[in-house]
Amino acid sequence: MLTDIYKKIRNQERISPEEGLEVLQNAELLDLGDLANGIRFQKNPQPHVTFVIDSNPNYTNVCNIDCIFCAFYRHPGEEGVYTHSVNEMIQKFKESSDKGVTTILLQGGVNPALPFEYYLEMVSRTIKEVPQVHPHFFSTSEIIGMAEVSKLSIREVLQKLWEVGMRTIPGGGAEILSDKVKKKISSLKGTSEDWLNVMREAHRIGFKSTATMMYGHIETDEDIVIHLENVRKLQDEFHGFTAFVPWSFKPGNTPLEKIIPHYASSTRYLQMIAFSRIYLDNFQHIQGSWFSEGKKTGQIALHFGGDDFGGTLLEENVHAAANFVNKTNTDEVIDLIRESGFIPAQRTTLYEILRTYEQKMAA
Ligand code: SF4
Repeated sequence: MLTDIYKKIRNQERISPEEGLEVLQNAELLDLGDLANGIRFQKNPQPHVTFVIDSNPNYTNVCNIDCIFCAFYRHPGEEGVYTHSVNEMIQKFKESSDKGVTTILLQGGVNPALPFEYYLEMVSRTIKEVPQVHPHFFSTSEIIGMAEVSKLSIREVLQKLWEVGMRTIPGGGAEILSDKVKKKISSLKGTSEDWLNVMREAHRIGFKSTATMMYGHIETDEDIVIHLENVRKLQDEFHGFTAFVPWSFKPGNTPLEKIIPHYASSTRYLQMIAFSRIYLDNFQHIQGSWFSEGKKTGQIALHFGGDDFGGTLLEENVHAAANFVNKTNTDEVIDLIRESGFIPAQRTTLYEILRTYEQKMAA
């Protein structure tokens, strides 16, 4: 059976969920990597690996969704709770821009005290006052929160964000798009269809977004396939996803830590990267990150189907809240990509190449 499926994959034929599960559960890791790497070069023949110079600040950690995998959020009145003004955030963006950042990935908790105007002002002022950075703002949960607070529909909220200049949305908040899992780890966050619906409406308007997956907690292999099938189906509708970004659950300081005390292995990460590349036949980019599983594993992921190395992450607070800290800078990212045998290429949020680093820079 596996041999027949491999043949289909090599012939660039779509595999079914049943065939996907067979591959995920029974393929040897190196066979998976080999197949995924072949697809990577069919889709992206150049030996470039892209990266973006970015920062992931947060405007508030107030949240009323209480996901049990999250160490980041606080309730009002708790120690360490914060909400920054638009002025404070613009100042932060300017400082990032001065350091060469081109993408700001901005997310927060779902804070019901913030009016919709706060978000619109954040976008419009960023575009006007910090034009060097691209506002890659707000996860689906925050967008659903904006709809609740403003009494507008999801479509109307997205339309207004589009009108003030937003063009892309980060793909966070998907976790595992299988309701059996969602009910247990994020019961107040809504269903898989809620995430898919925000993305569908966004793509219909013209937004681009990433799609993500947080694995390594209570999900089964079947749930992974359901997740990828949901994402693949939506991509067939509008081709609005730029890239797929998997990462493992980080248990530190989360309620879920009591049940899942460790994060998934590097081997599982490589399997997720390769399997995503194989299953998501309508995605051009798969991100193998230096950040989420460590630099060495990130480098190996570039030989398992990944063609993007993620962002430089000048600021990151969500994983840090779970005691997972990993730092780099642009020069190191360039070196890591080179060491892996590829040509580093700085990209925009929309995966357009800004410059390539063909030659080693002088010391
Ligand atoms: S993951 Fe997001 S929505 Fe869930 S509790 Fe954390 S901040 Fe809130």
